[in-house]
Amino acid sequence: MNYDYAEEIKAHFRASLYRIAFPVLLPFYMLLNFMDWILHPDHGLEFLMVRLTILPVVFFCFTAIRRNWSGPWHFYTVWICAFAGALQLTYMAYRSGTAITPFYLYSINMVAGCMLFIFPMPLGGNLATLGASFFAPVAAMLLRAWQGGLDRPAFSSVVFYFAMGTILAVVATEVDRLRYRTFQQKVNLFFLATTDVLSGLKLRRYFFNRFIQELSLRFRTGRDVVLSVAVLDIDGFKAFNDRYGHQAGDQGIKHLGEIIRSTIRVYDIACRFGGEEFIILFPETNLEQVQSVCERLRKNIQQRPVQVGSQEVPLTVSIGVSGIETPLTESLKAAAMDKNQRLVLIKHMVQMIRLADEALYEAKKRGRNCIFLRRQESFETEVAEDEVLRLKDYLSYFEQPLPFFEPTETAPLTSRLSEEINFYSEEYFFRRCVEGLYRWYRDPDWNEVLAVIRVRGGDPKAMRAELGKMFRLSDTLCVIGSGTFGIIFYGMDRNCLPQVFARISKRLVASAPESKISVTLAAAALEFAKPKQVQASSNYKDFSRYVTELLNSLKHHRFGHGEEFYFHSPKEEKPVKLKATG
Ligand code: GH3
Ligand code: MG
Ligand code: MG
Repeated sequence: MNYDYAEEIKAHFRASLYRIAFPVLLPFYMLLNFMDWILHPDHGLEFLMVRLTILPVVFFCFTAIRRNWSGPWHFYTVWICAFAGALQLTYMAYRSGTAITPFYLYSINMVAGCMLFIFPMPLGGNLATLGASFFAPVAAMLLRAWQGGLDRPAFSSVVFYFAMGTILAVVATEVDRLRYRTFQQKVNLFFLATTDVLSGLKLRRYFFNRFIQELSLRFRTGRDVVLSVAVLDIDGFKAFNDRYGHQAGDQGIKHLGEIIRSTIRVYDIACRFGGEEFIILFPETNLEQVQSVCERLRKNIQQRPVQVGSQEVPLTVSIGVSGIETPLTESLKAAAMDKNQRLVLIKHMVQMIRLADEALYEAKKRGRNCIFLRRQESFETEVAEDEVLRLKDYLSYFEQPLPFFEPTETAPLTSRLSEEINFYSEEYFFRRCVEGLYRWYRDPDWNEVLAVIRVRGGDPKAMRAELGKMFRLSDTLCVIGSGTFGIIFYGMDRNCLPQVFARISKRLVASAPESKISVTLAAAALEFAKPKQVQASSNYKDFSRYVTELLNSLKHHRFGHGEEFYFHSPKEEKPVKLKATG
């Protein structure tokens, strides 16, 4: 699952249409009409009308893209615009009876060149577009030849024209390549920072952070607290290694990683915990349900042996599971509101993992290749604080060093814990959206709201810090760009959103009274218009594409004058207008 680069470019295209094409490129194009008036005073008005015909063309392309025009929309648009420009130019040359002057050559070339920068196309597309800009003088020359009077433009200007066009295309290609590389690096960095190469499963840091967030989510949603965790250990792996060699052993771990990934759900979190130990978190799943999943997993592993050279060697695993299923009591709710929430949650996480470990030990004792379950009866823990401290290196976030677990030895642990701010990378954010959509797909009662907040004005760092303080642990907050933030609200009733927005906006504005700050929020429920929109529940690609679309449409939503709040429910045909109230 990745961000789709084509989607990224598409969003960039839409945004530039508003930001650059309409306010910059079109006026520039219209300015050329001044030259028309000077060169051909008789035809000034006529040529203005001709040049204005570009407007419906641009408008047509824009509407087509807005409606999710499929196919190589990008390519067509640049071609259609360049072609329209070329037609106009040819017509004007014909009407005024002039030769193709260098001015004409350069003007169409410049316009095509600018379009390439605004709407960069992958590699070959740039060159093909350049071809469109060459079409203008060639067509005009043909026309003149057909009329009988072939006055060729000077050789030097033709050379200059072609040279300039080529340079423009090469630079535009490079700009595009750079953009693509940055994009790819972002994705790769996330992958490297969170994934174990051998098994393809997540690393501890990712696992622990997700575990904490999942736990806090239980409190937030008001549903029963249902959560299970399974620890797997390969049976007799030392003997396997001794007999077949370490490389075969590594092969076994890789093989197991593949089986685990294909057996569990998208939003179950699997991690390679140690050498040949794995741990899986099952949110929203009770012990009985986990037992059947683990049983399936155990059987799959047993039935699909590892390929070592030419032989097939069977591997088995023992699994220890701990689970908790308890109604959300008042005391739990109080714990959720506690300032030291994170500390409480970490203790519970440690407790659950410890129970699962004990269960695993029991499963090993009972002869291996089996499952042992431990039910956690209450939400009490006897985990000591120094055990929590030992986890500190794992519980820092992926992107920026944040004041969570700051090594200020003088501050008491609890105050250090509560200072944490929950910012994640955009890639992580995107993945969480896809998971959220998947959860909703499986359980329509599950509601997550995806929001993009744009803050203009004020010190970006201060705004970011202020925003970070406002959110709960269970919300996923990410920095999308300077002054643009993404947030997933879990278990959020959409009717509360206007109030939440009003609160956010009020606080941000109040935090910097001396500067003029504007806050806008575009949000959407993470759900499909039609549940059947995706092919199969396991089709990850559809989910990713849909989330990219949704995210981009929120990122680039155009707010009307005075409008600062927008909510879109994909289930309804038209955007729902919720009034932002104070
Ligand atoms: P059992 O779990 O059934 O009690 O027996 P075991 O032999 O599997 O015991 P244990 O879980 O303690 O085994 C750990 C062994 O796993 C040690 C090491 O040889 C092997 N191992 C751990 N990590 C790796 C790894 O990354 N690659 C390979 N090839 N082997 C590993
Ligand atoms: Mg082991
Ligand atoms: Mg083992």
